[in-house]
Amino acid sequence: MDPRALHKISYGLYIITSRKGDQINGQIANTVFQISNEPPTIAVSINKKNLTHEFIKDSKLFAVSVLAQDAPLSLIGNFGFKSGREVNKFEGVDYQLGDSGLPHVTTDTLAYLEARVLQEVDAVTHTIFIGEVTAAEVLKDGAPMTYAYYHEVKRGSVPKTAPSFVPEFKDKKAVSGKYECSVCGYVYDPAAGDPENGVEPGTPFEALPESWVCPVCGVDKASFKLLK
Ligand code: FE
Repeated sequence: MDPRALHKISYGLYIITSRKGDQINGQIANTVFQISNEPPTIAVSINKKNLTHEFIKDSKLFAVSVLAQDAPLSLIGNFGFKSGREVNKFEGVDYQLGDSGLPHVTTDTLAYLEARVLQEVDAVTHTIFIGEVTAAEVLKDGAPMTYAYYHEVKRGSVPKTAPSFVPEFKDKKAVSGKYECSVCGYVYDPAAGDPENGVEPGTPFEALPESWVCPVCGVDKASFKLLK
C-alpha cells in the first residue's frame, strides 16, 4: 500500500466546537462534509481521545467554524495542538455563543454551522458524528482554507491524532538546513522563512531571534531539531 495515495484526497479545514454544561471546547478537523440537503445534514470524524469528542457525546451538539484561507498558523495551532484539558483554547480568541450555547470563532472564519447529532458511527479510533444542521450563517466572503493550501502554501503540520495523519517521507537531499518542531512536526525551511511572523525567506534557522517560536504550536527554538 502506498500511503501517499491518501494525500490525494482533498479536504477543508475547520474548527469543531462543542460544549458540556457550561464548559466549551474546540479542535481542528479536516473531515467535515455535507451528506444531504433535505434536511441538511453534515458529518465530522473526531478522535475518541479528544476532549471535543467527550463534549459532543455529552451534549449531542457540535458547531463548525469554516476557516478562511488567510487564517494564521497560530490560530490553527491553538485549536489543533493544544488540549482543552490543559488550557482554555478560547482565551484571546474572538468568538460568539449561539442560541444553543455553542461557540463560533469569529476571526479568520467565513461561516459557521451548528448541528444536532442524529447518529454516531464507530470508526475504531474515531467516531463519525452525523448531524442535522440547526443554524448556519455566513460571516464574511472569501476563499476557505483547504487542507492542501495549509500543507503546501502555509506549510502547516498535523497532529498524530488526525484521521489523515500519514508519517511524512523525508527526502534527504531536500532537507538541508531545515529544522523540525519536536512537538508538532512543523518544519522550518530557511528558503521559505516565516513571513507571517516577519522572518524573510532566506533566513537560516540559526539567525532566527531567540524570541522566535514555532508558528503552529508556540514552543521555543530549543524544541527544534535539525533534519538529517
Ligand atoms: Fe510546533
